[in-house]
Amino acid sequence: MPERLSTSSSVVRFVRDCAQGLLDIVYPPRCLGCGGRAESPQLPLCPACLQSLERAPEMGMAARLDRLPVGKGVFDGALALWVFDKEGTLQAVQHALKYQNRPRYGVPLGRLMGDAFLERYPTPDGVVPVPLHRTRRLERGYNQSAALAEGVAEALNCPDRPDLLARPHPTRSQTGLSRGERWRNVRDSFLADPAAAGGRWLLVDDVLTTGSTAVAAGQTLADAGAEGLHLMTLGLARQ
Ligand SMILES: [Zn+2]
Repeated sequence: MPERLSTSSSVVRFVRDCAQGLLDIVYPPRCLGCGGRAESPQLPLCPACLQSLERAPEMGMAARLDRLPVGKGVFDGALALWVFDKEGTLQAVQHALKYQNRPRYGVPLGRLMGDAFLERYPTPDGVVPVPLHRTRRLERGYNQSAALAEGVAEALNCPDRPDLLARPHPTRSQTGLSRGERWRNVRDSFLADPAAAGGRWLLVDDVLTTGSTAVAAGQTLADAGAEGLHLMTLGLARQ
């Protein structure tokens, strides 16, 4: 039975990919930045718009994490690929990736993240996406961070380990909560697998805003005995 299930799901995937391939020929994908011809069906940006994205300063990421009362020392290093501006090109890409059912954009973007990570840090034992709570994942059909992590793992040539971190509890609304309560609210939503112990992991997320979600996920892996932790995100929100 499980075999038949996986066969039928790979048939569905094949048919969907073929349909998508035909659509890409009939309606070539447009650059989300300028509307021109995109680099490839997988990456919805033209070479000029891709070049124009502003690289995020490494210090900016560290400063953002240090601002959190609990953020210091969780990660051995943290990087974001690009600065994320409201209404900017990267937001259009992230929006398509997150809400318009375009998980295929995640893998090539993740590869670019992986290349940038390797310029600075050694290869980890595996890549761990920040998980979505099940309800949210079912609504959206996929986890955008998992799509990015897949590309990062490809670029680093190391295992993709979405199994190491789960989000069994939904994060309640943060509205009206004190700083401490907000932290506990996010902190308690994650659960690490015991297999995380002893490994050097690279945590991957889409956009870092305050950093509390990434730090909570990282702290959960650290508490489970992770030996080393780095963080890589696609964007760092400008503040
Ligand atoms: Zn463009």
